[in-house]
Amino acid sequence: MSTPRTLFARLRELMAHRRSPGDPAAMMADLAALARLIAGEMMSDVCSIYVSRAGGVLDLAATQGLRANAVGRTRMRVDEGIVGLASSTGETLNLADAQNHPAFAYRPETGEDPYPSMLAVPVRRAGRSLGVIVLQTLIPRRFDAEEVEVVETVAMLLAELLAATRLPEQIGPMAGHSDELSATLPRRFAGVSLASGVVIGPVVLHSGQVTPDRLLADDPEQELARLDLGWQAMQRGIDRLISDQLPESKGRRAADAQASREILEAYRLVAADAGWLKRVSDAIRLGLTAEAAVSRVAGELRERMRRINDPYLRERLADLEDMAGRLLASLDGGQEQGPVPPFAILLARRLGPAELLDWHARGIAGVVIEEGSQGGHAAILARALGLAALGGARGVVEAAEAGCEAVLDGDEGQIVLRPGSELRSGYQAAIAARTARQAGWAGLRDKPVITRDGVRVTVMLNLGLALELPQLAATGADGIGLFRTEIAMLARGAVVDTPEQMAIYARVMDAAQGKPVVFRTLDLGGDKLLPGSALPEEENPAMGWRSLRIGLDRPALLRRQLRALLLAAAGRPLSVMFPMVATVAEFRAARHLLLAEAARVRPAPESLQIGTMLEIPALMWQLPALLRETHFISVGTNDLLQFLFAADRGTPALAGRYDLLSPPVLDLLADLAVQCKAARVPLSVCGEAASRPLEAITLVGLGIESLSMPASSVLPLKALLAELDVGAFRQFLTSIRRTSAGMASLREAIATWARERALPV
Ligand code: PEP
Ligand code: MG
Repeated sequence: MSTPRTLFARLRELMAHRRSPGDPAAMMADLAALARLIAGEMMSDVCSIYVSRAGGVLDLAATQGLRANAVGRTRMRVDEGIVGLASSTGETLNLADAQNHPAFAYRPETGEDPYPSMLAVPVRRAGRSLGVIVLQTLIPRRFDAEEVEVVETVAMLLAELLAATRLPEQIGPMAGHSDELSATLPRRFAGVSLASGVVIGPVVLHSGQVTPDRLLADDPEQELARLDLGWQAMQRGIDRLISDQLPESKGRRAADAQASREILEAYRLVAADAGWLKRVSDAIRLGLTAEAAVSRVAGELRERMRRINDPYLRERLADLEDMAGRLLASLDGGQEQGPVPPFAILLARRLGPAELLDWHARGIAGVVIEEGSQGGHAAILARALGLAALGGARGVVEAAEAGCEAVLDGDEGQIVLRPGSELRSGYQAAIAARTARQAGWAGLRDKPVITRDGVRVTVMLNLGLALELPQLAATGADGIGLFRTEIAMLARGAVVDTPEQMAIYARVMDAAQGKPVVFRTLDLGGDKLLPGSALPEEENPAMGWRSLRIGLDRPALLRRQLRALLLAAAGRPLSVMFPMVATVAEFRAARHLLLAEAARVRPAPESLQIGTMLEIPALMWQLPALLRETHFISVGTNDLLQFLFAADRGTPALAGRYDLLSPPVLDLLADLAVQCKAARVPLSVCGEAASRPLEAITLVGLGIESLSMPASSVLPLKALLAELDVGAFRQFLTSIRRTSAGMASLREAIATWARERALPV
């Protein structure tokens, strides 16, 4: 390969001499010239450029090295071939023996037989696939990291070219220009609720990026100086955002404003990340403009994000992307953006916290973040700002146009684009009813939950970040039933040292003001991985070396955490539970570590409660021994269900297939409740099931009177449980359980019972 700078210099020349940018025929000629240039400079036998078309196909638009008459004839679906795979996954494929790859699709007309190696680099822009660049060689080999980097940079430049041009009609319109019919029909997208609330209004789209006009530069020093100025302007902008978060300035409650401030402080740390700046500077030294270099590095981040399963790490990368957008805007002169129309709903693939605040200032009423998760910074802020918010809903950004009407239903976790008049009026009525209901909920905040027949139900919170602590006062929950300690570490991307852990736990206890808090020890592993953690590759990480298993095999980390918890308690009551306990022996070993630390820490906690999470079914057959030793049990229904039905909780195709409201689970929980009651061991449920209305009443009906859930569910569930006649429901439940053997679920029967009594389920 010649040096990347030579390639980029020639590319600059090529682009400067484009006959007429935007003209399709000229574009085809440019693509052919580009393929020749890349093949020559990269010393590759073949360089082909595939371009995405409507209907999910990729056409061979130019080639150097394959048969010229295949251009315009060779066509791949996005689910076909290595080219389709690179396009649909957004990932570069670097294969020494492509023809034996399971996805390989042979196209005889191209004459590609002699070329075993293949580098397929997707061409993407704003999350959409625009095409694929393919290099092939006669000698089998993998392309080295520098070569891959160069082709990925060229792909970014090509994306800008393609985005600016419509290609010749005989090959069809560009992907993304949907036909007129589909643009008028209603479309529903399901997702996960990030914040409750219903909004009807026009869509505004978050493009996520300012598109650089100029991509290649003559003078790297000048670009580095521009980057420096832009960087400083961006930092000043973030400082301003933070100072604007003073409670009085936005008229919000002090606790919410505090949460926003903390998120932005954490974001400022991300924005000061020197490694990121260095990568941008390196890209400038290759010959890119400051804007193109920022886009390039942000693009890499985006692709890394797509491969990360852990929602908290993805959110951290989302912060970095947010920052890239701000940096591009400040390089562009940083103009202020005007207000959006009333009740606007923002649609974004990803959204960082600072961006959300900007959009909030412009007046949005709701937000959909395709890659947003419940614990993400943007979701936490959306709740604090009182916006309706939805995560997931994949494909909605692609399907929407700016200005089209939508109904965002943050309660049911869905969005409908272009709703018909009937659906709209149904939702209008729902909004009116909800407004009335909310007025009623406010009064419930400071009242304990007592059912109609006098059963006291404890409603607690599941939290993971100190930032969420204001939710305790906002909901009036009875305490924190599950504090997921690993989340602070995942958010930070590193193991937090003992003094810092202690400070976090002490803050949680301070905020609880004497209400109970149950700290769960680190539940790392599975999909909750810290960067750089040297965990072995496993076939089934959820059932692998994770959680307490790591804690017991490598006790130093667990002991440090236990010490931090004991120090934080400093004479106050302390409650600790261990996740993923499979045997009583594991519980004993973990308790032994805790007691050993407790013997050394002064002042000792006022009391020490040591509990077990019941997430692994095997514990059910060890209950007599366990109940003699554990102080309490908390059921993690998320994991329990996945292990009980052998159904991965993260596999969308299995979501909803197995039901908590099914006879085997109800039998298990009923049996557990009876045994705990007999042994006088407190029992609660802290999995997501506790937050859902039908599940919550069923758990109470089975005798489980302590539920822990995300903050957004607390007030609606308080309202529901206050209207429940537990005695009557228990009778009904007992009778249908008797006759339900072999049924997949009792959900319908329970829902009918509840609706007949006008319960808000
Ligand atoms: C559970 O498994 O139900 C649980 C509460 O733990 P997590 O969701 O953190 O695995
Ligand atoms: Mg669990």
